Amino acid sequence: MIKGKISGVAALFLSLILVLAACGSGGSGSNGSAATEGGGKNASAASAESKGSGKIKIGFSMDTLQEERWQKDRDLFKAAAEALGADVDVQSANGDDAKQIAQAESLISQGVDVLVVVPHNAEATAAIVEKAHEAGIKVLAYDRLIKNSDVDLYVSFDNERVGEMQAEAIVKLAPKGKYVYIGGSETDNNAHMFKKGAFNVLQPLIDKGDIKLVYDQFTKDWNPANALSNMENALTANNNQIDAVVAANDGTAGGVIQALNAQGLAGKIPVSGQDAELAAVQRIVEGTQTMTVYKPIKALAEKAAELAVKLAKGEDVGADKTVNNGKIDVPSILLDPISVDKSNVDATVIADGFHSKEEVYKNAK
Ligand code: BGC
Repeated sequence: MIKGKISGVAALFLSLILVLAACGSGGSGSNGSAATEGGGKNASAASAESKGSGKIKIGFSMDTLQEERWQKDRDLFKAAAEALGADVDVQSANGDDAKQIAQAESLISQGVDVLVVVPHNAEATAAIVEKAHEAGIKVLAYDRLIKNSDVDLYVSFDNERVGEMQAEAIVKLAPKGKYVYIGGSETDNNAHMFKKGAFNVLQPLIDKGDIKLVYDQFTKDWNPANALSNMENALTANNNQIDAVVAANDGTAGGVIQALNAQGLAGKIPVSGQDAELAAVQRIVEGTQTMTVYKPIKALAEKAAELAVKLAKGEDVGADKTVNNGKIDVPSILLDPISVDKSNVDATVIADGFHSKEEVYKNAK
């Protein structure tokens, strides 16, 4: 009896503490850790309300910082989010799926209000969406889609158009002949979109017999060293008789051009790219790379930051498109990419301040 009474009092005391603690966290506008503990929609709604006056905390889970662009993405996203009054915790997984999931879990348990994810693996990161949703946290897929999940929003460029631009520029210079396709990472949904776009242009010419596809490989982890060895294999298998290369980004184009250079072929065969990396834009003005696709990262980062804050507040994001991810039609915002070659480098990447004229033309004669 007595024992029962004591524990009854203790329970009352405990619930009083919990109520006080909950009021305290609401009043100080904490980062909504309630959302991570309670789970489900109610916890989410409650935390969104309690966040009214507080600082929003964004977890930014990145695959990698390997390519130059991702460092820009990180810096510009952080700056844009901070300008909106939010804090950003950035994690990079170095291309390791288990690490990316563990980092995202840690961000979730730290009570972020929204998660922004650049997935290394389009399928594996569905687990992140599931865990975030259990904690009432919304997820924005940044640049790369998360497949087979209920991801809340996708903000990227028109990636199929990127692939079309690459092939269009190469076909213009080499309307016929032996083609090599050096793709991106097979685990990145974008790599499939770039390839789809490129083959929208190439396939009719292959069917016509004008173009012969002699080599077609993805590049593990988008690693330029893998693109280099794939290109060496393509050259060897064809006795160096290659007329054109569609490479999916500037990193892989760098590997391709290194392999061509070793055979005295750099600058003699058109090669595409993407990202307007400094090294690639320099190669363009020097004549060893034909084109790149410039994707204004600032616009992407600013849009994503603005919408991540809206998601955290439970506001409407006004997505005008959807992209199917195998499970749902994901509300999406797709920005326009820009095709860049020697003729418009100045009017695009340089005019935009993406790179300076001095840097770009440093080695050009
Ligand atoms: C991005 C490209 C990038 C590539 C490698 C893709 O998902 O859209 O801009 O070059 O990943 O990081």
